[in-house]
Amino acid sequence: MVMSILRIIFVIAVVWLVFIVYRRLRIKLFPLRAASNTGNIKKMVRCALCDLYIPLDDAVISDGTYYCCHQHQAEMNRDQQQ
Ligand SMILES: [Zn+2]
Repeated sequence: MVMSILRIIFVIAVVWLVFIVYRRLRIKLFPLRAASNTGNIKKMVRCALCDLYIPLDDAVISDGTYYCCHQHQAEMNRDQQQ
C-alpha cells in the first residue's frame, strides 16, 4: 500500500518535472517564434467615430486621427464644425 502511494507520488513528480522542463524550453524557443511572427502582425487603430478596429494600412488618417472610411472622416469633420 505504502509502495503504491510512493509510486503514484513518483509518477506525479516525473510528470511535473517534464512539464517544468517543457515550459522552460518553450520560453527559450518563444522569442524566436515571436520574432518571426512580428512581420505578419499589422498595427491596429481605432476609428474615432465608430470605435471599429482596422489595420493601420487601411485606415483613413486626418489630423493624426484614424477613421475606418472616408465617410466617417467626413461625418466627424462635419460634427466638429457645428
Ligand atoms: Zn468608423
